[in-house]
Amino acid sequence: MSRRDEVLRGISEAAKVLAKPPAADAERTSFDVIGAIVDRHIPLLFRPLDKLWGAFVNAGAQKGIIVTSKLPLSVQRFTLAHELGHLLLGHEYSLDDTVEFAGRHAQVWKDPQEAGADAFAAELLASKQLVSRAAKRHRWTKAELNKPGTIYQLSLRLGISYKAACWALVTAHVLRRIEAEQLQETVVKGIKTSLMPPGLPRNSWADVWTLDQADTGTALEAGPDDLFAVGLKDHASAGYIWNLVDADGDARIVGQHGPDLNHGYGERSPRTIYVEFNAPGIHSLIFEHVRPWSRSTLERIEVHVDDHGKERVGMSRREKHNTLRAAA
Ligand SMILES: [Zn+2]
Repeated sequence: MSRRDEVLRGISEAAKVLAKPPAADAERTSFDVIGAIVDRHIPLLFRPLDKLWGAFVNAGAQKGIIVTSKLPLSVQRFTLAHELGHLLLGHEYSLDDTVEFAGRHAQVWKDPQEAGADAFAAELLASKQLVSRAAKRHRWTKAELNKPGTIYQLSLRLGISYKAACWALVTAHVLRRIEAEQLQETVVKGIKTSLMPPGLPRNSWADVWTLDQADTGTALEAGPDDLFAVGLKDHASAGYIWNLVDADGDARIVGQHGPDLNHGYGERSPRTIYVEFNAPGIHSLIFEHVRPWSRSTLERIEVHVDDHGKERVGMSRREKHNTLRAAA
C-alpha cells in the first residue's frame, strides 16, 4: 500500500477509536491511550529499553505492545498510540527506534506502515475535538495559538510533546505548515524557565503548568516534579483573598509573584502562586477566593491532578490497579 493510503487508513482508524472512547474520567483533558489499549485486551509491558522506543507483534496467538520506560510521559504516550495504530491497522510487527510527531504532515521518507501508525497516533491524541475543547475552555484565539507559550500549555493538556502540538494545530487549520516548521524549533526549556520564579531549583524535565479559573473541573495528567503556576486575581478592596485549600496536606506553596499593587482602587490585583506536590498521587488542587473573617466564598478553582507521570517498568498502573481490585 502507498504511504498516502496508509496515512488515510491511520486517520480513519483513529476516528473509529475516538467514536468509542474508553470509559475515562470525563474531566480528563488528554486522550486515555492506556485505557484504549487495556479495553482491547492487548498485552502491554514497559521495559527499560535503550535502543527502542517501542515495538509490537501481531502474529496469531502472539500479540502485544512493549514500550520503553525511559522516555518522558508525552513521548511515551505518543509511542503507545503509535504501537496501537500498528495493531489496529493489521500490521504484523514493528521495532521502532523513534516516532514522527508531525503525523500526517511528515515530509520525510518513511515506510508506509510507519507513516500510517504516526498519523493514527497524532489524530488520536490531538483530535480536533480535544484541541477545540481546550481552546474554547481557555479562550485561546487563533493569534494566541500562534504563541509558543500557549502551544506549550496546549501540549501539556493534551499529553503530547510541544512539537506534536504544533502539528496538531496545522491539522486544526490554526497554523500553516511553514508556521509549524518555525514554531517547532522553539526551545521548550526557555518557555519553562520564563514561567518559573527565579532561583527555584528545578528538574529540567519537569513541566510548568499555568493554571487559572478556566482549568476548574478538569483532570490533568502531570509528572511528579511538575510545577503549577496558579494565576489569581484578588478582589482585595472588597476584602477577598485567594487561599490554597489543602485538606490533604499534599501540596505546598514554593513561591509567589505579585500582587501588583500599582492597580487602581477597586481593580483586582493579579498574582501568581507556585505550587508543588509532596509525593506522586491523585490530588485535588483547590483555591478559594474568600473573605477571611466571614468565610464567604466568591469563587473557587478546583483541578484534579494525577502526577504519577510516565509508566514505570512492568505492567501499566491501570492494569496493576485492576488486577489488585479483582484479587481483593
Ligand atoms: Zn512503528
